[in-house]
Amino acid sequence: MRAIKNLSIRRKMVLIIMMISAIALTVASVAFIATDRINARHSIEENLRTLAKITAANSSAAILFGDKTAAEETLDFMSRQQYIQAAVLYGQDGKFFASYIKPDVYLTLPGPGLQAANIQFWEDYIELYSPVIQENEQIGHVYIRADIKVIKERMAGYLGIVALVFIFSLFVAFILSARMQRFITDPLLKLSAVARKVTTDKNYSLRAAGSSRDELGNLILDFNEMLDQIQLRDNELENNKLELEERVATRTIELEAANQEMEKAKKNAESVAKRMEYHAHHDGLTGLPNRILLNDRLSKALSHARREQSRIALLFLDLDRFKIINDSLGHAVGDQLLRVISRRLKNCVRDEDTVARLGGDEFMVLLPSISDSSDAGRIGNKIIDSLIRAVSCNGHELHITTSIGVSIYPSDGTDAETLLKHADISMYRAKELGRNKLVYYTAEMNAESRRQLVLETSLRKALDRGELKLVYQPKVDISRNRITGAEALLRWEHPTMGNISPADFIPVAENSGLIVPIGEWVIRKAFNQLAAWHAAGHRELKIAVNLSSSQLTRPGLANSVREALDESRLDPAMTELEITENIVMQNLDSAIATLEILKGMGISIAMDDFGTGYSSLSYLRRLPIDIVKIDQSFVRELPGNKEDASIAQAIIAMANSLGLDLVAEGVETIKQLNFFRQQEVMVIQGYLFSKPVAADELLAMLDSETMPGPLNLVKK
Ligand code: C2E
Ligand code: MG
Ligand code: MG
Repeated sequence: MRAIKNLSIRRKMVLIIMMISAIALTVASVAFIATDRINARHSIEENLRTLAKITAANSSAAILFGDKTAAEETLDFMSRQQYIQAAVLYGQDGKFFASYIKPDVYLTLPGPGLQAANIQFWEDYIELYSPVIQENEQIGHVYIRADIKVIKERMAGYLGIVALVFIFSLFVAFILSARMQRFITDPLLKLSAVARKVTTDKNYSLRAAGSSRDELGNLILDFNEMLDQIQLRDNELENNKLELEERVATRTIELEAANQEMEKAKKNAESVAKRMEYHAHHDGLTGLPNRILLNDRLSKALSHARREQSRIALLFLDLDRFKIINDSLGHAVGDQLLRVISRRLKNCVRDEDTVARLGGDEFMVLLPSISDSSDAGRIGNKIIDSLIRAVSCNGHELHITTSIGVSIYPSDGTDAETLLKHADISMYRAKELGRNKLVYYTAEMNAESRRQLVLETSLRKALDRGELKLVYQPKVDISRNRITGAEALLRWEHPTMGNISPADFIPVAENSGLIVPIGEWVIRKAFNQLAAWHAAGHRELKIAVNLSSSQLTRPGLANSVREALDESRLDPAMTELEITENIVMQNLDSAIATLEILKGMGISIAMDDFGTGYSSLSYLRRLPIDIVKIDQSFVRELPGNKEDASIAQAIIAMANSLGLDLVAEGVETIKQLNFFRQQEVMVIQGYLFSKPVAADELLAMLDSETMPGPLNLVKK
């Protein structure tokens, strides 16, 4: 069956036609042969019956009369029939009467006994019994046996013919089917070839040929129609594909551009983030690590030092008098100086060390691994030495120094906060010791700073408790031998700690802001005191009051001075306010503005401790001052110390050139007095005449009209 399935359609068609033809021919042949056989037998049977009837009719008389000869003559008639083998006549008793048997035929005749009409077909012959009737009575019967081989032979002959016809017909059918099937298979095969080519080549423009109007023609038409549709769709698809490809290409370009943009934006964001990260951890001006980064590195260094049991050093640097440079020469110069200093600092340390700028003029150096605390001192001193070299900024030769405080892990503290605090404290100690110094932290310093705290707490109550007092140091005009003025100096008589020097508590008052109420009290008290002295008749006397930096920078100063003047009803011309260079330099512009107002009110301004600060002619000219007080540090070794003498002379010359009055402070000896007399400095203040005294003591001096101290010994 599978073999048939795999046959080509042509062969299948031929096979089918051949099978159908064979079946049809077989059926036809069988029908023909069967019909012929039946007809042949039927005809023989009819012949035999007729012969039997004739024989019976002709023999009845012979039987009745027992005439065997007549009977045999009748039977002889049978010999003319070739196919009759025997004809026997049985009499009334059923006994054999007469017979005819074909020569050369051997057979067994039926036994006696009457037989009814009957016919029997055997393989090669037929037996027929036919009664002999006489007046409705059977008087005997005829037996005829006929040979039917002839029928068989005829059949065999027919079969041969049928077989030939069959073979011929099949041959003809084969030839015809082989040719005729092409009507069907040719278009089909062509169609199939086109379909295969369309499939393999994907060429939808191909068409199957065929113009018949039968189902095949329709099939080809439908197939072509289908190809039309497919081609249309294919074209559409192709167009869509092209369009899509174009869109994809455009989109790809857009995406690539977007990707590039994104990449750019990402890089930008990264660099912004890096910059932000950098700015968050570095000082914008110098590029040094800032406080945040320093803290971070310090805590890492501490963890490492704890593990390794190593030492760390923290150096706290504060530039000395940087503010003066910044204020007098401008921020641009200050910034430039800071940058130079930063570079120098970095050059003094190793790569693993950190130099950080904490802000303003404060720097911190972290040495994360030192073998000995002396290493910190060595590096600190190297820094001090490297800063001493002059820096030229915008045509200015600048000299800057730094004060350094050092704290060491673990001896001075085991946590970042303590180490920073102790480095800070020791830096302040370095400032106190005269600046441009390196000071190691000691436990006593902490005690000192605690003492400062105690002082601050007590100072808050001191004013209310009346522990603060003013003493007055006279200023003597040696040209007239008269006390022409007095400087009000603050004293604190602490109930348990005793007298505390203003040098000790004024910085505390300044740092805590207490100097403002205290300063106002001093001004009021001093002005009222002067008013009292004036009232007592000493109308020429002037009063000088010291101002601190916080007072000068605070906006309310002029008002509180005005109120004190109003309250005391003093002539402002009789009052002086003393400022120091350092106070002024902390905020030069606002200091000038405030001093201008005070001067505008008629008050004199004195530059106290002149020569110890940033003594510069350029800013001195800008300040609205009237008096210069030569600091006692230059006076102390006069006239022997040539250097001090020339400084004092330079200050005097400068004041004279600017038309400023001069006061010499701290004059303790006659030689000093004479030095100033020679320099024509006529107003002298110092222990030579009097220490600062209580108000009534000064009044007594004024009233007695005798000069305090040895003045009466000094002749003009
Ligand atoms: P200063 O304004 O320069 O005052 C002069 C200081 O020199 C006073 O010290 C005075 O007692 C001292 N003195 C005067 N003559 C001599 C002398 O011949 N030899 C020596 N060795 N010293 C002499 P004092 O009273 O201890 O004041 C120290 C500083 O405290 C003052 O220096 C001033 O800057 C500040 N001060 C005092 N009172 C006040 C105040 O009421 N307000 C402010 N802001 N500061 C004040
Ligand atoms: Mg003074
Ligand atoms: Mg002074």
